[in-house]
Amino acid sequence: MKRAKKVFFYTFGCKVNQSETEGLKDRWRGRGALPVSEVTRADVCIVNSCTVTARADEECRQFVRRLLRRNRKAPVYVTGCYARRAAADLKALSPRVAVLLKEPPEGLLASEPRRLSVSPPDPSSRSRPFVKIQDGCRARCRYCIVPRVRPRLWNQTVSGVLRKCLSLSRDGYEEIVLTGIRLGLYRGVGPGNKRFDLVRLLERLLESPARFRIRLSSLEVTEVTDPLIRLIQGSPRVCPHLHIPLQSADDGVLREMGRWYRFRDYADRVERLRERVPHCGVTADVLVGYPTETDRAFRNTVDRVKGLALSGLHVFRYSPRPGTPAASLPPCSPQVLQSRATEMGRLSEQLKKDFRERFVGTWRETLAESSGYGWTDNYIRVTVPGDALPGRLVQARIV
Ligand code: SF4
Repeated sequence: MKRAKKVFFYTFGCKVNQSETEGLKDRWRGRGALPVSEVTRADVCIVNSCTVTARADEECRQFVRRLLRRNRKAPVYVTGCYARRAAADLKALSPRVAVLLKEPPEGLLASEPRRLSVSPPDPSSRSRPFVKIQDGCRARCRYCIVPRVRPRLWNQTVSGVLRKCLSLSRDGYEEIVLTGIRLGLYRGVGPGNKRFDLVRLLERLLESPARFRIRLSSLEVTEVTDPLIRLIQGSPRVCPHLHIPLQSADDGVLREMGRWYRFRDYADRVERLRERVPHCGVTADVLVGYPTETDRAFRNTVDRVKGLALSGLHVFRYSPRPGTPAASLPPCSPQVLQSRATEMGRLSEQLKKDFRERFVGTWRETLAESSGYGWTDNYIRVTVPGDALPGRLVQARIV
């Protein structure tokens, strides 16, 4: 009898990566592997990598080195965006490191008979699964490496999305997150061979017997259309929270970044959303320290972001990505980068606090997590009642 190979999985990066790791786990399980949470027990380690910033690359290399030290035998397979961009850098870490861009190599899962031990709970099994429905980007943001590592546009079919979501609903999940690199460009084949956009797909999901609420991971501002806003307004099962990357609020910097909208366009969409769905949370990515971002442009961004009263920010520090047009520009100094990131981080904390304060004393439907916390529909982190089971929707009071 063959012993199941124990496989340690780890994910860096975005929700798309996280959903891809879940897919990988399913495929490896299907071939007899057993996911484990302790690296020391693993026969094989798999790291799903991210390359969106220089820091993401460095964190991945450090993590792989740590795995090699903590487990002296297991091979480490690195997959994902960094592996696709710079396989040689990763292989140079050790002869035990290999890059895995397709299926597991033949023979990797076969092993000698040994007693099979019980698997501990999978630490990465989450209360709200990510369902990848779209992949790929062909935009020309001058700082971004994603179109180089994910150039192929792909859409899950409508029936594929429904099948996956119904199965998650049967498994008892009460919230799912739809993800994609450009989620708002979803154009999956539906009944009658017609292309469904995101709004039509959501309508189909809402008509289905699935009982979860749906969260959207990230949408570009030009994808926040009136029909989508109306759908969020009309359906309590679509979470009133959108994450809309802004990157900069200065039109000069936006243009130089290769972004295709102006600040006014962004502000108009947020305003329209708030008119229709006043309790909607809106968070944004902001990229600080772009090479052409002057002090004045940065101040402009700070002032305008304050004025938008968003509900939180993801602050990224610019770092040159080899092969992108912006990489040839002289970077701003590390001190400037640091101070802008700190200031923007503080602003994010303030925005979160202000948004939360608007809801103090109210009750909101909240997905409980294992830590005793949960996330409201409009994405406020709250404490949940002590008896709330992780993964369940409960009413929580905002205090
Ligand atoms: S930042 Fe621009 S290029 Fe990068 S994934 Fe987003 S839209 Fe595509």
